[in-house]
Amino acid sequence: MAVPIYQTTSYVFDDADYATELFKMQKEGYIYSRNANPTNTVLEKRLAQLEGGSGAFAVSSGNAAITTRQIRWQKPVSDEIVATNALYGGTYNLLANTFQRFGIKVRFMDGHDFDAVEAAINEKTKALFTETIGNPGLQIADLKNLSKIAHKHGIPLVVDNTFTTPYLEKPFDFGADIVVHSLTKLIGGHMEPLSAAPLSIPGDSHGITASSRNSPKKSSLNGHSFLELAKENAFIAKA
Ligand SMILES: *Cc1c(COP(=O)(O)O)cnc(C)c1O
Repeated sequence: MAVPIYQTTSYVFDDADYATELFKMQKEGYIYSRNANPTNTVLEKRLAQLEGGSGAFAVSSGNAAITTRQIRWQKPVSDEIVATNALYGGTYNLLANTFQRFGIKVRFMDGHDFDAVEAAINEKTKALFTETIGNPGLQIADLKNLSKIAHKHGIPLVVDNTFTTPYLEKPFDFGADIVVHSLTKLIGGHMEPLSAAPLSIPGDSHGITASSRNSPKKSSLNGHSFLELAKENAFIAKA
């Protein structure tokens, strides 16, 4: 019953055609463990199921998850994020200081002042970011209203659900497009390992709209976009 731990970087390709199909994303399979690994896949599938998302992507920490989510969409120097202002300290530092050095501007707003949140969004804004319940200030986000504001402006609502876990609340039910977790905390059960954190996106049209508007359309995938190849999982595939 235990999931084996695949301690491998690389995988056997039966023949060159099979490898070609994998690289063109015409077949699902394993190429290299930085992209996907069978042990991680079990974790990712279970987390997507817990949150009701269409997929998930595991990385090595909560901060890595938040960074991965942002850098897949942001164009340094010109892009912006609007975030609520009651965030986990490590996330605040990441957004306010580290991202700034990459030229990404983050505007922090009172998450209950909806007019101010909306007024902070402009044509450069690529995401609205919040925590379900702020750690450690315990401010509760009004996800329904925040998602309405985000969708009115064609941007995704990204929710850090670390503090609540899907046991207590599923942000996708309230209009979120992407959910981020630090698995280091409550969902891990004991808070011993600094652990992988997923990003997931629901299978509804909000997710697709958000991805198509914000992700780079073309890649090295033979002229196809991630949206064409991975549909509602485009963001996960790109990440
Ligand atoms: C701890 C925490 C993070 C960062 O996660 P790490 O796994 O420590 O990088 C992000 N968000 C919240 C709400 C947290 O509590």
